[in-house]
Amino acid sequence: MISSPTLWTEFFERYYRDEINKLAYKVKSGGDGRSLYVNFVNDLLIFQEGKLGEELLEHPDEVLMHAEKGLANVSNIYGVSLEGCKPRFYALPTARKVLIRDLRSQHISKFVAVEGIVRKVTEVRPRIVEAAFACTNCGSVNMVQQEDSQLRQPYECSRCHNRRLVFLPDSSVSIDSQRVKIQEYPENLRGGEQPQTIDVILEGDLAGLINPGDRVIVNGIVRAKPRGSGQRKLTHMDLYIEGNSVEILQQEY
Ligand SMILES: [Zn+2]
Repeated sequence: MISSPTLWTEFFERYYRDEINKLAYKVKSGGDGRSLYVNFVNDLLIFQEGKLGEELLEHPDEVLMHAEKGLANVSNIYGVSLEGCKPRFYALPTARKVLIRDLRSQHISKFVAVEGIVRKVTEVRPRIVEAAFACTNCGSVNMVQQEDSQLRQPYECSRCHNRRLVFLPDSSVSIDSQRVKIQEYPENLRGGEQPQTIDVILEGDLAGLINPGDRVIVNGIVRAKPRGSGQRKLTHMDLYIEGNSVEILQQEY
């Protein structure tokens, strides 16, 4: 793999100097929207003979982490750290566009683009990414990274090994999160076919961007989760997309 945080820093500094400085200004002034938008076909595909882009499509978890670390270290005229800023990728190669009905297990953990009409959006709600728990014995605060919808609690206090801890919502770190449903275009269906849908999770500054009726391209990572809940998890899985960026093609008013 050629991808590394250093290579990404080089890429951003070569092609996105102006955008980086605008982003740095937002960070410095406390503004919203901590994202850097990268045109995949125009910029990433011409860098390193397209290899870095290819790696992003095939191994998005690892490569996005490199890109985020690389972005954090990019130099800018304000001299601020871009830690926590998100690189977002749009205009993927046509070969990476998958019809919703063609999504299969081979796409799990890959970076793809799907196009369709927004059918449902949930309210934007905070999702905890790092939960804080106070020890009832020594009072120290234990932070626990959160990965899925189930709240993970610490087994014991890391300082005194007491097992009674209370959740502290105010000291926890959360981000905006929303679930939307994207449906295939009805005009692409053959007679009698039911349009298929896919759920998309939109987080951070992507939450709240789109509305029912909008025609969009969602770029992101295909995820799978077992059907059922709690102790009764099944071997059949539901697919959904963890959105990295959204392109609005046509807005419904
Ligand atoms: Zn303790």
